[in-house]
Amino acid sequence: MLGSLPSFARLVAELGKLPGIGHKTATRLAFYLLRSSSAEVEALASALLEMKRNLTFCHTCFNISEAEFCKICLDRGRDDTRLCVVQEPQDLMSIEKSHGFQGRYHVLHGALSPLDGIGPDDLKIAQLLARLQQEPVSEVLLATSFTVEGEATALFLARLLKEQGLRVTRLALGIPMGSDLEYIDSATVQLAINSRREL
Ligand SMILES: [Zn+2]
Repeated sequence: MLGSLPSFARLVAELGKLPGIGHKTATRLAFYLLRSSSAEVEALASALLEMKRNLTFCHTCFNISEAEFCKICLDRGRDDTRLCVVQEPQDLMSIEKSHGFQGRYHVLHGALSPLDGIGPDDLKIAQLLARLQQEPVSEVLLATSFTVEGEATALFLARLLKEQGLRVTRLALGIPMGSDLEYIDSATVQLAINSRREL
């Protein structure tokens, strides 16, 4: 049926590329958009284009940014000796919201997952090592998720970084196993930062 409606099929195919959206959900969303007013669909399309025009990733830490360098990297008031490594920009936001960390960040954009074919070269690890050569960092706080992949990434980085004589810590108390930082409340994140442990 979709084959005879190429513009509908194209929309379903594009929506189906989004994470967590299968063919069935993509079709349901396409029908929803078809029933929406032109103004509503234009508002969605322009929000997508505007986001793409105005946002990029910081050239230093790979956080979401409206300019070449993000506000955190440009902030001279931050502690240059501490660097917090996270998987995703959402995790950085969770830690910022907790007000428990005043250092700088590095966003890996994922975690090691050999089963999914994601190795060190697929993450911003080379960029992290290059930064550590240039910046006066003495402690790296590994705040990857408490999932199998996040733990594997933390252990991999800990070994690399300790060889370079850095103090390596990990979020501790209060973060349940199997959880993404993004969904943990601020007080728990702050507690985990304060009680971070050596790796
Ligand atoms: Zn930045």
